[in-house]
This record gives sequence, structure tokens and C-alpha cells, in this order.
Amino acid sequence: MTIPFNKAPYTGREPDFIREAMETHQLSGDGPFTKKCHELLEGITGRGRALLTTSGTHALEMAALLCDIRPGDEVIMPSFTFVSTANAFVLRGAKAVFADIRPDTLNLDEKLIESAVTARTKVIAPVHYGGVGCEMDEIMRIAEKYGLLVVEDAAQGVNAFYKGRALGSIGDFGCYSFHETKNYTMGEGGAVVVRDERYFEEAEILREKGTNRSKFFRGQIDKYTWVSAGSSYLPSELNAAYLYPQLLEADLINRSRLASWDLYYELLSPLAAQGAVSLPVVPEACAHNAHMFYIKVRNLAERRKVIKHLKNEGISAVFHYVPLHSAPAGERYGRFHGEDVYTTKESDRLIRLPMYFGLTPGDIHTVAQSIRRYYD
Ligand SMILES: *Cc1c(COP(=O)(O)O)cnc(C)c1O
Repeated sequence: MTIPFNKAPYTGREPDFIREAMETHQLSGDGPFTKKCHELLEGITGRGRALLTTSGTHALEMAALLCDIRPGDEVIMPSFTFVSTANAFVLRGAKAVFADIRPDTLNLDEKLIESAVTARTKVIAPVHYGGVGCEMDEIMRIAEKYGLLVVEDAAQGVNAFYKGRALGSIGDFGCYSFHETKNYTMGEGGAVVVRDERYFEEAEILREKGTNRSKFFRGQIDKYTWVSAGSSYLPSELNAAYLYPQLLEADLINRSRLASWDLYYELLSPLAAQGAVSLPVVPEACAHNAHMFYIKVRNLAERRKVIKHLKNEGISAVFHYVPLHSAPAGERYGRFHGEDVYTTKESDRLIRLPMYFGLTPGDIHTVAQSIRRYYD
């Protein structure tokens, strides 16, 4: 492959910080680099408290535990998402109630949520696909009306905004991922953002094996003990040291990705104008983070051919989620509310193009030319 689909972001300063972590002999969790990452993340979100986790998946699991999900509870979410959105709640015995997506942003259709609410509904879990925000005002209105909690799967939404508010900081809990395929990385890792202070102490305890160790380290208590059920969700300092320079350079990385996204958009607009492909839509209310650039072709058969054509020209382009409601576990643990008008149709048409920090304008021209050649 001459142009891969993804390359883990790298600023050049990671080795220095990892060496520093090694030389201070502090490698377990919640050391100086983790604290610096928390501060930088809270600088991006502007509200709430951030806690690094071992993955985006674990951030979602922490959120499900903080929501006190019990067997039989229902969680409204899109079917067009990664398995972790559903697993987090299913592991606690909840049922995933899938609602259809909007064809423009591929996000949960906010107009379909209210009719999916039942007496068992506890949580709405919107997913900000590609770092483009869901219609959060409407989602928060419904949550308030029915007394529901909101867990934002903002795995792809770090440093992206809806009406000036950071994705992940609008609902009760926000979940970020720092997997190597995301905009900022630590290899495997994530963060949970806790909007209200009243949940924060509980989150710290849950993340530290059910102990009040964090309070002990702050000198607020003189010994720590087992106070609640918990697990270990805190990453090593080595991982935090890799993430730290990426968060320091978050705006540089963001600008670079947005420039790549804009160039793809410009170069593929003529094909879109001819009706050959559709391009992503970013609503007025959203400042996205160029997490991904996708095109939508006519149908599944055409998608196979386009991906193969690109592969033959050395370009790795990939499809995305198999809708969860059509997967074996989705049939067991979930149900689709209403009609699947867009979830399957839109996911069948989608192709993600190479996108990473360091992708050059020349690469983007190569990809766009290759797509144009297919349609010629
Ligand atoms: C990446 C991702 C996750 C999972 O994050 P990990 O860090 O890989 O566990 C969850 N939800 C969505 C939408 C994602 O894109």
C-alpha cells in the first residue's frame, strides 16, 4: 500500500516524555503525566472533570456503572456504531434499543428518540459519528423530560464542539478514546468526562478498585480503604506520557486534519455535483474535528468495486460498522425501534478514505484522482 488508511499520530516529542516517565520510576497510574493530561483535557472540555481510562470501551463501562444500570434497563442508541457502545450497557444486563440514524450526519435521529422511550428506559447514548455532534439540545430536552441520563460516546469527538460546547461535556458522562486510530492516541486508552461534581468522587473510587486512594493521595484522608465495588480503569504513566505531547499539540493536529478534510471535500465536490458520490454533511451547529472523511457511493455492489479499484492503485479505503441490530449479539441483546430506513442503507454505501495526522496534500490528490478515474 502506498497510502495506508491510518497511521497512529506522532508529534516527535513522545520519546522524550516516555523517557522522563521511566527515569522518574513512576509507571503506574495517576502519576504526573496522567495529571497533566487531565488538565489539558479539561482545558479542551471547559467543564466537567476528566479521568484517563485504559480504553474508550472502559470509559463507556465506567459510565454504565455510574448510571447504575440494572438488568432490564433500556438504553437508546444508534445501531450504526461500534460494539462497545452497546457492550458497556449489555454487560450490566441492559437491553440496547436501537433507533434509526439521520442520512446526513449518520448520527442518531433525534426525532425518533422520544417514541422509543419506555418505562424501562434509563439512558440515551448518542454517538458523535466522525466527530460531528449529534443534535444535543433536543437529546438533553428529552432526557430532562423523562428523567434519563445521557452518556455521550464521544470516542471520535475529542476537541470537537456543538454550539460551542465540547462533545463529551454536554451529557452526564462523556467517553473518549485514545486508540491509535483516533485523533489523539496513547496506543490503547480513553477518558471519561464527568460533568457534575457529585459523580466525580464515585468515578474516582470506581476507577481505583473501589478504594478511596485518590482522596488519600490528595491528603484528604489519612488512610485508604475499600469503600465500594470497583475495578482498575487507570492507564500506566507510559501511555499517558505518549498522549501528553499530542494534547499539547491538539490544535496543530486538529488544524492539519481539518485542512486534509477540506481538501478532500474540495477535490471531490465535482463528483458529488454529478451525483456520483455523496459527501459528509456538517450541520451549522457543529465544529467537527476531521476525525474521518467518507464518501457514500450508490450501493453495496458499487462499494466493493470502488474499494477494490482503490486497493489496486495502492490506496487503503475501508467500510465501517455492520449495523449492530443485524449482528448475532445485537439480535440477542437489542431490538430495533421503528423502521430501519437509513441505518443499513447508508452503512452499505459508506467508504472511509485515508485520514491521519501527516497525510499530505499530494496523498489527497492521489486518492481523489483515483476515485475520479473510477467514475471516468
Ligand atoms: C473507538 C471507538 C470506541 C472504543 O474505543 P476503544 O478505545 O477502542 O476501546 C467506542 N465507540 C466508538 C464510536 C469508537 O469509535
